[in-house]
Amino acid sequence: MLFENQEIKIYNSLSGEKEIFQPITKGYVGMYVCGPTVYSNVHLGNVRTFMSFDMIFRYFKHLGYKVRYVRNITDAGHLENDADLGEDKITKKARVEEIEPMEVVQRYTVDFHNVLNTLNFLPPSIEPTATGHIIEQIELIQTIIDKGLAYVVNGSVYFDVHKYNETNEYGILSKRKLEDLIHNTRSLDGQSDKRNPQDFALWKKAEPTHIMRWSSPWSDGFPGWHLECTAMSTKYLGDRFDIHGGGMDLKFPHHECEIAQCKAAKGNDPVKYWMHANMLEMNGARMSKSSGNYVNPAELFSGDNKIMSKGFSPGVIRFFMMQASYRSILDLTNDGLLAAEKGFNRLMEAINNLDKLVPQASSSFNVSEWKQKCYDAMNDDFNTPILIAHLFEAVKFINLATDNKATITEADLSLLISTINSFVFDILGLKKNNNQDDSGANKLSATIELLIKLRKEARINKDFALSDQIRDELAEVGITLKDHREGTTYSIK
Ligand SMILES: [Zn+2]
Repeated sequence: MLFENQEIKIYNSLSGEKEIFQPITKGYVGMYVCGPTVYSNVHLGNVRTFMSFDMIFRYFKHLGYKVRYVRNITDAGHLENDADLGEDKITKKARVEEIEPMEVVQRYTVDFHNVLNTLNFLPPSIEPTATGHIIEQIELIQTIIDKGLAYVVNGSVYFDVHKYNETNEYGILSKRKLEDLIHNTRSLDGQSDKRNPQDFALWKKAEPTHIMRWSSPWSDGFPGWHLECTAMSTKYLGDRFDIHGGGMDLKFPHHECEIAQCKAAKGNDPVKYWMHANMLEMNGARMSKSSGNYVNPAELFSGDNKIMSKGFSPGVIRFFMMQASYRSILDLTNDGLLAAEKGFNRLMEAINNLDKLVPQASSSFNVSEWKQKCYDAMNDDFNTPILIAHLFEAVKFINLATDNKATITEADLSLLISTINSFVFDILGLKKNNNQDDSGANKLSATIELLIKLRKEARINKDFALSDQIRDELAEVGITLKDHREGTTYSIK
């Protein structure tokens, strides 16, 4: 079903404003997101970025759009620093560990997919690799050279930022001026190949020790990092596409360089809406391995870390991240995760109770109005915290109805169930019992249901001593039974 009557507003980093989303082709969305560099375990901050776009992908799909979502894997060419001086990160790690570069790539690509699967991500439509698109990148470089906006020095090719800036605006996305960049750049030794320090590499000639290398018209070497995204996004989404996303830290220079390369080669910025997800901090500070203020996803799940008091299930972590707008800085703390765990459990308990509600003649909850409020939240630049606040209005109602203090008609109940399922599971991507105790939780609920059945039989046989004993002893371990006209429900403290 097509739900295109929902009007979405997207904050476009290029204009600095929320704009009404109008797809380039009606009913279709093309979205490109800069993927991970697979030379180490995926950083939680990157997980947050990818989760934001997973939620956005899910919402467009829910609305009935045909979405082609491209998220690349950077498996070559990402240099150590922005000045293009460093070694290729992947080669460096390979030499340290004395294994093949592609073995590093394989190991961390598998890790990346495992973490994302654990957190219930949908796979993107296409996940292209930089090394799989060397020919496209070489063609793109040749076009930029032919247009007079790149030059060759000693087998390397550089983008001529100054020349580009004569007829274009370098810095248009990050709101920087070339004059300021010139003023703020220290001149570094060993950069003599470049005409200007602001120029960036499109192709680098490989040193004899550099393992990852390809032949090109200029030298045996490897492509510059910025280039792969331009080559792969336009290859799979066309010279004009709807959304380009990534982390805030990629705005400059990476995305700025993508715009420059594309304008140089094709005459236009291919992107209609530039979107940037904000950073994840921990205990109020930047997460980094060197400072020790760091925890990786697996350690967060298992609790095997010095920062959190215990492990948190992937469902709780997903819920925690969705509680903040993708454009806000999110602070990961133990208290925040404990609170998210409570909230997540309350939400899941209410959803479990939905099946037990008995329809009545009238509703004391306006389900259609509430449903549109949920859409309105998502339509306002994917405002998941507001959506979650609305979901908890429904939780409040479900809890009242479970206690027979509120009523709902059959039609409203079915609308409530389908709407909650859409928003909680399809759009936020949460999963029922999405935690490590999956089988344990299922066994526990089966056991309680069995005790409820035995208690009912005891009461039918007028064995009230036994029925009370079951209720009281369950209460002692924190399981409360509630008797209603329609049967018995339970809650776990
Ligand atoms: Zn990129």
